[in-house]
Amino acid sequence: MSKVSLPVIQTDILILGAGGAGLCAALHAADAGKKIKILIATKAIIGKGGCSRMVQGGYNVVLHPDDSFEKHFSDTLKGGQFINNQDLAWELVTVAPERIKEMETKFGCFFDRNPDGTIHQKPFAGQSFDRTVHKGDLTGIEIISRLSEQVFNRDIDYLDEHRALELLWDKGGTRIVGALILDVGRGEFLVAHARTTLVCTGGGPTMYKLFAPSLDKSADGIALCYRAGAEMVDMEMVQFHPTGLIVKGSNTSGTLLEEGLRGAGAQLFNALGERFMERYAPDVKERATRDVVSRSSFMEIMAGKGTANGAVLIDASVMGPEFVEKNFPGMVERCRDYGFDLAHQRVEVSPTAHFFMGGAQIDTRGHTNLEGLYAAGEDAGGVHGANRLGGNGISDSTVFGGIAGDAMANEVIGRELAPFDAHQVAEIIKQAEAPLGREGLDLYPLREALRLSNWEKLGIIRDEKGLREALQTIQELREKMEQVGVPGSPVFNIPWNDWLNLRNQLDVSEMIGQSALERKESRGAHYRSDFPKKNNGEYLKNFFIKREKGKMKIYDRPVVLNRLKPEEIGFE
Ligand SMILES: Cc1cc2nc3c(=O)[nH]c(=O)nc-3n(C[C@H](O)[C@H](O)[C@H](O)COP(=O)(O)OP(=O)(O)OC[C@H]3O[C@@H](n4cnc5c(N)ncnc54)[C@H](O)[C@@H]3O)c2cc1C
Repeated sequence: MSKVSLPVIQTDILILGAGGAGLCAALHAADAGKKIKILIATKAIIGKGGCSRMVQGGYNVVLHPDDSFEKHFSDTLKGGQFINNQDLAWELVTVAPERIKEMETKFGCFFDRNPDGTIHQKPFAGQSFDRTVHKGDLTGIEIISRLSEQVFNRDIDYLDEHRALELLWDKGGTRIVGALILDVGRGEFLVAHARTTLVCTGGGPTMYKLFAPSLDKSADGIALCYRAGAEMVDMEMVQFHPTGLIVKGSNTSGTLLEEGLRGAGAQLFNALGERFMERYAPDVKERATRDVVSRSSFMEIMAGKGTANGAVLIDASVMGPEFVEKNFPGMVERCRDYGFDLAHQRVEVSPTAHFFMGGAQIDTRGHTNLEGLYAAGEDAGGVHGANRLGGNGISDSTVFGGIAGDAMANEVIGRELAPFDAHQVAEIIKQAEAPLGREGLDLYPLREALRLSNWEKLGIIRDEKGLREALQTIQELREKMEQVGVPGSPVFNIPWNDWLNLRNQLDVSEMIGQSALERKESRGAHYRSDFPKKNNGEYLKNFFIKREKGKMKIYDRPVVLNRLKPEEIGFE
C-alpha cells in the first residue's frame, strides 16, 4: 500500500465528470451485474453542471425507416470533412438508437412525440434527414435530470465540487491508477485510487473572448490526459457556434441561441440589412454547417458590416411569431430575460467558442493509449473530425460514456490495485499550492489576455503570423503564472481555482496553436487565411500531440478511410 498522509478513497472505477458521458458510464458500469465500486468526482454539483444539461436542440439518431446508418455516417463525415476516425463515427451512429431507447425505457427520459406516438425528430444543419430527437428546446435538462436520478437510485458514490487536478501513475509507471482530487469546498486534497479511470470533464473552449460552455469547464480533462502522456488528436479543431447571444456589458455574452432556429428557417442579416448567407452559401444559406456560418458572420463583422456591438442579427420572426413562441419557448424566454423579443424582432448574435472536436485519442471501447485510462465525450477526439454536426455532441457523450462504462466494468474484474506513486502526489500538491498566499501578479489580466489573444489569433480565422504570436503570448503568460499570487486560504478559494483553470487552458491553447500551425490548409472549423483552400492531396491526415520528457511532440498519420472514401460521395 502506498504511504501518503492524505485521505485515500479506493474504488474500482473512477469517473471524472458527471455530464452525459460520466452519468451513462456510471449507469452502465453499475448495471453490468458485477460487484464493483464506482466513484464519480465532479467539479460542479451532480445534475447541475457541465454542458449536457445545457443541450438545447437535441440528439441525432437514426430512428425513422426512411433514414439509415449510412446517411447519418455520411453526413457526419461530410461535416467532419473526412478527417473523422471512421470507426468511432460508425460506432456513434450505430449505437445511438439503442442509447436513445435505453434512455426512454430504462432511465425515464421522455422526448417530444408525433401525433402517432412515435418520437418527433426535427431538422438540424448539415443533415440529409430530420433526425434530431428533442424535448422542446431544452433537451439536456430532461436527459441530465433523469440520468442523475438513476445514479442516485443505485449504489454509486459521488463527490460534488471535487475537481481532478492530475492523473496518477502507479509506482512502476505502467498504468494510470486514479487521480489527485481537490475538494473545492474544504480546500483539501484526496487521492482517488482506482483500478481504472474515465476522463469525461467535457472539454470546453472557455479560453476565448466569447464562449458558450458552462463556467465549470476549463478543458481540465484534456490537459490532464496530455500531461499524463496520452495521445491527443485534432487539437486544432475548435468549433465556433454561429449564434451566441450578445448582451452588451454582460459576461453571459456568448451563451447560445440554438441551431434549431436556423434549421427551422431563421435568417441572418448584417447591420446593412443584407441576408449575407445568400453570398456565402447560396444553396443552403443559414442551414450551412456551423463552420461556414460562423466564418461568414465573422467576416461580415470584420468587414465593418456588423452592429456597434460587433454582432450580426438573427431574425426568427420570419417564421411567424406564434411558431417561434410555440417551438422555441426556452430561446424566447432567454432573450426576454435580457429584454429582447426573439419572436418579433431581430436579435444580435456573434460566433462563440463552443466545442473541441479534438481530445484524447480513443479506440471504439473508449480506451486511450495509456493503460487503465479511458476518455469519453468532449474530452475524447476523433469522432467529429474537422467539424461536429449539431446534435452529434450529446449522442457522442451518452454513446461513448455507456461504452466506456461497459468496458471498464469488464476490465476491473481480477485486476490488482497497483500502488500509486506518493512522490508524484507530493509534487502535484506542491505545484498546485504554489500561488496560495504568495505576493504577486493579479491573475485576471492574464486570463483576459489569453482570451483576447486566442480570439484574435487562434480563433475563427488564423494565419502563420498570428499563430506564432498567439504561441508567444501563451509562453509569456505561462511565465507570468509563476509570479501570480492568490490571497486567502484554500477553502472555497475562487481565484485559486481560476489559477488552476488557467494553467490547464494554457496547455490546451498551446496544443491548439501548435496543431493549427501544422495544418497548412483550411478544413472545417480550421480556417487559414494564408492557406484558404482545402488540400485533400496533402492533408487527409490527423495531427497528434503527445508529451514526452516534458516536451510537446507533434506528428501526423493519414486518415484511415476504411469505411467510406471521399470520392464515393463526391466529396472534394
Ligand atoms: C449551450 C450549449 C448547447 C448545446 N446544445 C447541444 C445540442 O443541442 N445537441 C448536441 O448534440 N450537443 C449540444 N451541445 C454540446 C454538448 O453539450 C456536449 O457535446 C456534451 O454535452 C458533452 O458531454 P460531456 O459529458 O462530455 O461533458 P459535460 O456534459 O460538459 O460534463 C462535464 C462534467 O465534467 C465536470 N468537470 C469539469 N472539470 C472537471 C474536473 N477537473 N474534475 C472533475 N469534474 C470536472 C463538469 O462539472 C461536468 O459535470 C451544446 C453545448 C452547449 C454549451
